[in-house]
Amino acid sequence: MTTEYLNHIGGEFRPARSARWIDSTDPATGEVWARVPASGAEDVDDAVAAAAAAFPAWRATPPLRRAALLRAWSEAVLARSAELAGIESRDNGRVLRETRDADVPGGALHIQYNASLADKITGDTVHLGGTALASTYYEPFGVVGVVIPWNAPLAMFFAKVSGALAAGNAVVVKPAEQACCSILAACELFERAGFPPGLVNVVSGTGPEAGEALVDHPGVAKLHFTGSTATGRRVTERSAANLKNLSLELGGKSPDIVFDDADLDAAAAGAAAGIYTGGAGQACVAGSRILIQDTIFEEFTERLRERAAAIRLGDPRDPDTGMGPIAFAGQYRKVLSYLESAPADGAEPLFGGRTGAAAVADPALAGGYWVEPTLFAAADNRPAVCREEVFGPVAVAIPFGSEEEAYALANETDYGLAGGAWTRDLNRAHRAIAAIEAGTVWINTFRRIHWAVPFGGHKQSGNLPANGVDGLREWLNLKAAWIELG
Ligand code: NAP
Ligand code: MG
Repeated sequence: MTTEYLNHIGGEFRPARSARWIDSTDPATGEVWARVPASGAEDVDDAVAAAAAAFPAWRATPPLRRAALLRAWSEAVLARSAELAGIESRDNGRVLRETRDADVPGGALHIQYNASLADKITGDTVHLGGTALASTYYEPFGVVGVVIPWNAPLAMFFAKVSGALAAGNAVVVKPAEQACCSILAACELFERAGFPPGLVNVVSGTGPEAGEALVDHPGVAKLHFTGSTATGRRVTERSAANLKNLSLELGGKSPDIVFDDADLDAAAAGAAAGIYTGGAGQACVAGSRILIQDTIFEEFTERLRERAAAIRLGDPRDPDTGMGPIAFAGQYRKVLSYLESAPADGAEPLFGGRTGAAAVADPALAGGYWVEPTLFAAADNRPAVCREEVFGPVAVAIPFGSEEEAYALANETDYGLAGGAWTRDLNRAHRAIAAIEAGTVWINTFRRIHWAVPFGGHKQSGNLPANGVDGLREWLNLKAAWIELG
């Protein structure tokens, strides 16, 4: 029996107008478990119309009232967190330990954080001498479109939608077709929390159909896109036709530098957790390039091997499981292609590499998309596995001699999402922060994201920081007014 999830448009639950569907698989078994609407441009039209109708009253709603509704939503999310997390773990394979204990409660706190910013949106006064002055206003855009990937759907949904609403916008969300069941299920909580119908609409469907309809739509003033750099580029090209305001949060190939003066126990734990995640390395900030000082290269890769060996692959909804499967068949094939091509491309396999039934102990899960924690060694960044985002539990270890060499290797990439360094030397830590070309640098920790700390990519990893007080700005349109007092 498959479960059916519906679009949420104008406060109602509806299938696509075309009555077409997309199957959603349980990646732990490879079996279809649910279906979601295959929406097209006509469904996006309906959603944009519903959002446009809801916008004027929401814009006029006093900020403290907006904040109260956001808090009611956050409470409703917390009350259903185990159920929502269970749906997400089933749909994209990320372990319950992360969805239930981090993503959903963290998402609820992110909603509360944005609620607390709703009444702190203020402009400036600019004195121009004499009798003239200018002032600035931060206004909502109107209808904003939000495109979301499949690796952490609920966390991203709560963060983006709460920011957009706190700023006074109405929203249309296009989640990823491969894992949107948790988001569609969570839609039930909007009107229950007291939001007016049409304020938040969710339309599932493919990128080329529902996604591009949102990019093209003249009624969508701003588009917030999270996904791969390749798709971000396509969305940017396409939006050139209407020049809508575009925010991009894209991919990464983040370096994690281990100096020989580091606490190696902590560094091994952090570097392993940075790539061998509960979501099988499908994290935008995964530390997929582990740069290791040559004096400790063998010792440190051995420590990583021990850490990786202790990670149990299995049912994502079992609280003891350390790592789930790859989220869907297409991504699984992509990861397998890197495992196959890496050795001929100059990357030497150090451990891992088993896939499918060979990587999981439970025979009931033999049909799932399993990949063992895997490490390659490479002399430099030349192999594709060192340059391209694999988006799986696959890292490459690269040795370096001097500190300068470490930063040169770290920065030899088009990406600039995040990076890290492990060292006990305070001066070196500061040098690493300055030297690593990325939107986030972690020292003696890795893969940390928090609603109060700005987060965004440099270089080809994005164009704006999300989160924190600065993050609210991406949902606001700046206006200047001039007044001649005569
Ligand atoms: P993706 O293939 O780029 O897809 C992202 C979203 O864009 C999906 O909803 C997708 O829909 C949609 N899409 C695809 N083609 C589109 C088009 N032509 N127009 C409009 N929308 C389109 O990325 P993904 O593979 O799902 O997600 C993984 C990527 O996201 C990785 O690169 C990861 O690093 C990045 N990511 C970045 C951040 C960040 O904060 N910087 C956070 C998480 C993930 P369908 O898939 O349904 O077709
Ligand atoms: Mg699925």
